[in-house]
Formats: sequence, C-alpha cells, structure tokens
Amino acid sequence: MTDTNPESTAASTEPRLSNFLRDIIAEDVRTRKYGDATIQTRFPPEPNGYLHIGHAKAICIDFGLADEVGGKTNLRFDDTNPEKEEQEYVDSILADVRWLGFEWDRLCYASDYFGQLYEWAIQLIKGGKAYVDDLTADEIRQYRGTLTEPGKNSPYRDRSIEENLDLFTRMKAGEFPDGTRVLRAKIDMASPNVNMRDPVMYRILHATHHRTGDDWCIYPMYDYAHGQSDSIENVTHSMCTLEFTDHQPLYRWYIEQLGIFPSQQIEFDRLNITYTMLSKRKLLQLVRENRVSAWDDPRMPTLCGIRRRGFTPEALRAFVGQVGASRTNGSTDIEMLEYFQRDDLNHRARRAMAVLRPLKLVITNYPEGQEEFCEVQNNPEDQSAGTRQVPFGREIWIEQDDFREVPPPKYYRLSPGKEVRLRNAYFVTAQSVVKDAAGNVVEVHCTYDPASRGGNSPDGRKVKSTIHWVSCARALTAEVRLYDKLFSKPDPYDFPEGGDLFDNLNPNSLEVIAGAKLEPSLAEAKLDNHYQFERVGYFCLDQDSSETRKVFNRTLSLKDSWAKIEKNAGA
Ligand code: ATP
Ligand code: MG
Repeated sequence: MTDTNPESTAASTEPRLSNFLRDIIAEDVRTRKYGDATIQTRFPPEPNGYLHIGHAKAICIDFGLADEVGGKTNLRFDDTNPEKEEQEYVDSILADVRWLGFEWDRLCYASDYFGQLYEWAIQLIKGGKAYVDDLTADEIRQYRGTLTEPGKNSPYRDRSIEENLDLFTRMKAGEFPDGTRVLRAKIDMASPNVNMRDPVMYRILHATHHRTGDDWCIYPMYDYAHGQSDSIENVTHSMCTLEFTDHQPLYRWYIEQLGIFPSQQIEFDRLNITYTMLSKRKLLQLVRENRVSAWDDPRMPTLCGIRRRGFTPEALRAFVGQVGASRTNGSTDIEMLEYFQRDDLNHRARRAMAVLRPLKLVITNYPEGQEEFCEVQNNPEDQSAGTRQVPFGREIWIEQDDFREVPPPKYYRLSPGKEVRLRNAYFVTAQSVVKDAAGNVVEVHCTYDPASRGGNSPDGRKVKSTIHWVSCARALTAEVRLYDKLFSKPDPYDFPEGGDLFDNLNPNSLEVIAGAKLEPSLAEAKLDNHYQFERVGYFCLDQDSSETRKVFNRTLSLKDSWAKIEKNAGA
C-alpha cells in the first residue's frame, strides 16, 4: 500500500541556515551526480513508540533540505521488528509529521519490500555471498571477536549453495523454531569493522506483524533492510544519525553486491537537549511505569506531549534550524528551545488576566452592585488582535504574592498604606486586612481613586507596581497545571553507580492548582489557542477540559533565562 501525494506542502518559510548536509546536496545537484533524477530523501521511523523532539530534527532535515531543491521525501516505516511495533505508533507518527508542517510524497513501509528483500537474499546465496548459520546467538557473538581481535569463521560458513538455498527456503517455510538458524552475509570475519564480520541478514521469528500478519516467520535485520529500501525508492541522500557511521560500509556492500540504485548514506549529529531524555525506549518505560500520565503527558519530550503543552511547530522548526547539523555529537541547552518558543508565543499569544493563587481584594469605596468594563488590548505585539472588555467590580481577586501585610525590603506591591495600579483599571491603596482564626490574611480592604480610571495617574503621582486581577463576580474557576523539567539534572544519564536514570526524575515536575481565577473571556478558549496570562506565563487549554470544567497547561513561564545566557556570553 503506497499513497502518493502530488503536492508537497513542506514548511519552507524559515530562514535557511547553512549546514553541511545542505552543502552536500547542493554540490550533488550542481555536479548532476544523479543525472536527471530528482533529489529524494526519506524519514524512516521505526513504529515502536511516539516521535520526540530529536525526530523533529531528522524530519526537518529530511523534508526541509529536499524541499529546498525541489526534491521529494518519503515517509517510510522501518517495520522489521514485529514484536515491538504497533499500528497505534504508526498513526501517531503520521499525525506528528503533519503537525510539524510536512507532507510526504509517498507513504512506504519496509514490510512492502519483504518479498523483494527475500529475492535479493536468494540472489546473494546463489552468488556465494550469503550462508545459513546454525550457531546459536551466543556462539555467533563469541565467534565475532572484539574490537581488537579478529573473529573466526563459523563451521557452517562453507556450506554449498544448494544446501544454503534449501535451508533458507525451509527457514521461510516455517520448518525451524525461532533462533535456531540465521542467514548471514559472507564478507570478512577479520574485518576491522565488526559490522562487516558476516552480519546477520535474516532471523527466524514466528511473530505476527502489524501489517503482514503471519505471512513471514523470517524477518530482515535493520542493516539488510534499510539500504535496499532506500535503493528501491531511489533515495539519493539517506541521512541518519552518527551511530550508523560504522554501518555505512555494510550499507554500501549490499547495494554494490546487488547492483541496485546507489543510495548514499550521510550521518549527522543526534539532537541532545539538557534535562531531556530522547529515546523512545526510555520514554516507553516512563509511560509503562506510570511515571508520567501517557505519551502525551505535557512534560514528555514527545511531539504529542509538547503539542499538548502548547509548543508550536513554528517554534520547533525555528529551533531545529538554529541548532543545525554537524558531524560531532553535542548537547543543546533546553533554554534555547524555550527561547524560540517564547519568541513565537510573544507574537502569537493573546493576553489575558488570571490569578493562580487568589486573595480577595474588597474596594470599600466602590459602590456595591456596580460593574464596569475596562477596554484591554488583546495583544500589544499585534494590533490586529483588537481589544476586549474585561469586567471590573467591587470585589476582585489578586495573587496572594502581590500582597504582604509586613512587606520585606524592596517589596513594591500591595501592603497596608501602599498604592499600586490594578492593570488597565485603577490605583488602589490597601487599608486593612481580614484574617481567619489561624491568623492568615483572607481579605484585603482597600480604597480606589476614581480619577485613575484606565490605570492612568490623575496627577502625575507614581506607583511602583502594577498587578493583575480578576473580577470575583465574573471569574471562571479553573484547574491550572504548572510544569517544570521532567529531570532534575542537565544530563539525565548522570547517576551514581547502582542507580538508574529515573533517580534523576524531578519530583516537582507537576504542580496542580485547583482553584485558579480566570477572566471570563477564557471560557471561550479553544484547544489550539495560546495565551499569555499577564505576569504569569504562557498557557493553553488542556484536552482534559469540558464545557463545565476548564483545565489550562502552563507552556512556559515568562522568565527568559536563555536571553540572559546569551547576554552573558556577549552574543
Ligand atoms: P530512539 O532511540 O528514540 O528510539 P531511533 O533512532 O531508534 O530513536 P528511529 O525511529 O529509528 O528512532 O528514528 C528515525 C530517524 O530519526 C532516524 O533517521 C534517526 O537517526 C532519527 N533520530 C532519532 N533520534 C534522533 C535525535 N535525537 N536527533 C536527530 N535525529 C534522530
Ligand atoms: Mg531505531
């Protein structure tokens, strides 16, 4: 089953930063290395988990670089591991690639090529280039040698072509149990590259495949499937991460022996981000052990997780473009990702007022039962976003943090006798407090200056701070979820001996606030809207919301530590 999409809608508006992969492709186009053939790339995920931010880099490279030169990109599922792969993962990957802004040319599956790969294996056997081995997995490992010692030949290496053909056909026919035999390429057991020491091509596995069902009980290994799949699709530039560098000679060997389309593999660095773990296998473990709520838990670095958290594809693409590609692995500060996301949200997000930890403020000289509306800009960064009317009344909610009965030095917010500005509304001066039996302040009483309407000083007198507020009569009560880093160490893998990665989980990565008070316009929020709760952070509606119960996720706080880092570095 292959889908063809005539129109590629890959996002191509971002600035083009130079990277060596782009240079290689440009040179191949210039020298007409592939003649009249179009530049063809592929993104080849294994459907054994959800995509994460690291994959976003590979996607932007595969789709983005091809698109820049009028080339095409296939989305190919590398589905050669039936035990770990599921349709759920396939579906999520399709959705995530589209969310990121890319559209594939053809949708392919390595399993589409099982028949062709089998034919090619027969061809290699007939050419004396492959043999059936009866050694156990352990024995094969022992025979393989080490980085410093050559391997030795299997006693089955010199079987006749006829015997190999017979045994391989019977492997396919299901005559042998799992793990009893393998097909190996006959290359060189003394090669300095361990991958070239007669690598396994096929293993016996009586497992049901998510697409081919029980048609096969032998499955090709990654190395045997990947290059040939590229070749079948006329992939010109097969870009992958650096851990495959040592596999490149084998990639080329199969293609050369078979005399098929000469796809070329090029390696680039994996994206690593501080405080973040980018491995599908480990992320699966987090989900299975209930350390997060699901693959799309907003603390997860999965694309569905950060999407739910309120991250945008535009910011992610800009970030990945800035990170670029290189030939050595490194690590990128998470603050840089956050910087790109804040920059994007600053332009996009509508402003709103929300009080997370409410304290009641009663304006004693404001007439009881009176209400008025303050006209407020929706987004000062975007005049076209217009204005809205925010209700104001005698009783309003302010943040507990914005009042101190006994103010510490340099505390300029509200305290008895001090005047502050209520954003877009009035100047108020705190007069007295009401306390509960335990002595906690539960209400602050203040007076307002009617001449300061709109928050403007009536006589040039200054106030040192402006605080946000929400009308008590009209507030929307909502749950707000505040997220912090999932891991508490810059390198999550930095744990003491005998410990484990999960010892580095941040115990305070989620804080739930049940009774936040939001301005009433937020009742209209949709899942894909982004907000800046003024002075608090960027937020979006969570999918757990219903008509009657709203839940908001904090995407990011407002603090911008990356800008500080850049400034300190003199950038
Ligand atoms: P994981 O270790 O998370 O399972 P993977 O490399 O096994 O990742 P694949 O599904 O095989 O995941 O990856 C599809 C493509 O994405 C590959 O080309 C791979 O090189 C690339 N990729 C995976 N992780 C990263 C990363 N952190 N940075 C850049 N590219 C990545
Ligand atoms: Mg993989």
